[in-house]
Amino acid sequence: MSRRHPAPPEPADTRPRAEVEHEAFLAGLASGLGGAHDLPLDAHLHTVRSPDADAQLDGYAALAVQRGIAELAITDHVDFDPAMPAYGFASFADRERDVREAASRWADRGLAIRFGVEVTYERRHEDEIRGWLRRHPHDYAIGSVHISAVSPYKAGNVATFVHGRSLAEIVAPYFEEIIGAARSGLFDTIGHLDFVKRYLVPHVMPADLAAAPELYEPVLAALVESGAALEVNASGLRQLPLETYPSAAIVARYRELGGRHVTIGSDAHRTEWFAYGLEEAYRHAAGAGFEALTFRRGGERVAVAVPIRRVT
Ligand SMILES: [Zn+2]
Ligand SMILES: [Zn+2]
Repeated sequence: MSRRHPAPPEPADTRPRAEVEHEAFLAGLASGLGGAHDLPLDAHLHTVRSPDADAQLDGYAALAVQRGIAELAITDHVDFDPAMPAYGFASFADRERDVREAASRWADRGLAIRFGVEVTYERRHEDEIRGWLRRHPHDYAIGSVHISAVSPYKAGNVATFVHGRSLAEIVAPYFEEIIGAARSGLFDTIGHLDFVKRYLVPHVMPADLAAAPELYEPVLAALVESGAALEVNASGLRQLPLETYPSAAIVARYRELGGRHVTIGSDAHRTEWFAYGLEEAYRHAAGAGFEALTFRRGGERVAVAVPIRRVT
């Protein structure tokens, strides 16, 4: 990778990201991305217990029953960096009570609701995270790398950061943390593997990353070696990349490299985003040859069959 990144182009679209992404969401609805139904699991959902979400758990549950999504994992954010928004935002006790009470309210309607968490992983907080997860058992734990206010990928920093750097240098800080998350052994699943591509648009486009699949190899190897599951996260379909995190090609490559554990989540933060793009994510998993998802409901891992005939 000797190519240096050129000076940042003039962004094609200078509207706020939220506005552009809302338009993408509406276009996706029109093309059927909102119509997921009869699927066994959505393993990544946020409620009002996350600082960046406004959805009520019962709203998701009602939609899940209507649409035949059999099982949900509620995975609100927990942060360990005091500068991050979910730091101290919701207590473990409040989160657990919300989810367990909802689980009993909805059980007789055939819906299973699990108590999960999405922890922001940072290597410098690994020991603290390890201790906390031990003291606070969840049914299911996602470890994700997020973009903090001081991150080089944050709007305002990213144009300067990419200038003069190769693609490998651009993604390195993000992927090094992902590798740390996988190797930590702390998490069932690594969330939205290449979420950084949302922040790189328009300086680096998803097609640029797709043309450099070798950049993913060390990341995928860390997942395969550690046994952490790969999440196929559908939220990228309503965000600037307009593709899942990671793309279908990377899911397939993970399998070729010996990866055996995938999970799937819509990562909804609003009720209307529930299960958006979920069927597409199932298609990617099925297309890569996965016949089951790897999930956990407390205790040992469990396999959740992918309805292959429905999604392919
Ligand atoms: Zn996340
Ligand atoms: Zn999330």
